Amino acid sequence: MEWETVIGLETHVQLSTNSKIFSGASTEVGAMPNSQACAVDIALPGVLPVLNKEAVAKAICFGLATNATINKKSIFARKNYFYPDLPKGYQISQFEIPVVEGGSLTFKAGENTKTVRLTRAHLEEDAGKSLHEDFIGMSGIDLNRAGTPLLEIVTEPDMASSLEAVEYARTLHTLVRWIGICDGNMQEGNFRCDANVSVRRKGDSTLGTRREIKNLNSFRFLQQAIDYEIQWQIDELEEGRPIVQATVLFDPDSGDTRLMRTKEDAHDYRYFPDPDLLPLSIDEAWIDNIRTSLPELPDSKSSRYQESYGLSADDANSLVSHANTAAFFEATLSHCDVSDKAQAAKLAANWMNGELAAGLNREQLEVNQCPVTPESLSALILRIVDKTLSSKLAKQVFDELWKGQTSVDAIIEAKGLKQISD
Ligand code: ADP
Ligand code: MG
Repeated sequence: MEWETVIGLETHVQLSTNSKIFSGASTEVGAMPNSQACAVDIALPGVLPVLNKEAVAKAICFGLATNATINKKSIFARKNYFYPDLPKGYQISQFEIPVVEGGSLTFKAGENTKTVRLTRAHLEEDAGKSLHEDFIGMSGIDLNRAGTPLLEIVTEPDMASSLEAVEYARTLHTLVRWIGICDGNMQEGNFRCDANVSVRRKGDSTLGTRREIKNLNSFRFLQQAIDYEIQWQIDELEEGRPIVQATVLFDPDSGDTRLMRTKEDAHDYRYFPDPDLLPLSIDEAWIDNIRTSLPELPDSKSSRYQESYGLSADDANSLVSHANTAAFFEATLSHCDVSDKAQAAKLAANWMNGELAAGLNREQLEVNQCPVTPESLSALILRIVDKTLSSKLAKQVFDELWKGQTSVDAIIEAKGLKQISD
């Protein structure tokens, strides 16, 4: 029997604002539990939410970067449920009219170029945290995270494999950091995905019944969870057991997915417009203003690198994996005073994606903490271009730069590395 997979992702992106979405409390992490939860966050009677303009600006920014529609008027709704980390008894979210609708994301998945349609992106507040580790026979509640702004980004069921889902998530992760709306820290849960997975017989026109895997906070878990779930669903169907719509949790230790709840015991959230908040209205001038401040996006930067410098798609895509990496590359090139910019660009790409990336990975550093500066790398490239250094000698110079030396010519001089060219 031939099966095909259908996947739709919902991603919670924590927006990097200084204060919370409906209060002035700080969003800084690491503070004493409950020291950053104000009267609004802990839902004292009589308090009123006040919308954080910066959270809206970041949502608009995302909508523009994905060619979506920014709704001029959207509505905040109450999503009602009880949980100890939600003192209000409801989460403020958006339901019928979200701030951002439509749009798409295009990326490479293996050899193919894939476009995934986005359904919507809506603003909402995060809940607090229940702490179990330091308590015996009870749980602690930390409300510091309550009210932290989230953008929930929902796709159409457009992905057909775990590879496509992971590449989508990576592309989204790069984009939200690139446009500066999220720090992308997945360990802290600032970027987490729910994967909706179903299978159907090849050629079927209706979708199979889906199960939703909650809260995947690494690309590896996302892939493992989806692969396990696909195989589990196929096995069930082949043994004649229908899939029951459900929410499941992935267990990284055992590698399987476990039932959390089925549709019968799904919440009825009783959504209704929040009477404490006016409709959110966004005017054209604000949107235009944000549009002009958007940086060149990774996709167009990568195409430009390929067209202007003849870089391979792989090389160019690695250079745009993070805004700081692209900035490092461009700074290196700008210091390279050579006639053949394409040659310099290829060398810069090779060094950055090779030795430099390996060093950063080895020492767990970010590119902006790199011991080799763009100036030094360009000086090294210059000495390769003018044939002072062979690639073997250049590697020795690079190692010295990595150890903290700053002058390429001084290293060549001191080590007597000059290549005898004639
Ligand atoms: P809910 O509000 O219950 O989470 P939605 O209809 O909004 O449900 O869908 C949530 C996500 O599930 C979306 O990303 C959507 O593309 C995806 N999805 C819906 N139906 C299926 C299906 N049959 N198989 C896989 N994914 C699906
Ligand atoms: Mg859902």
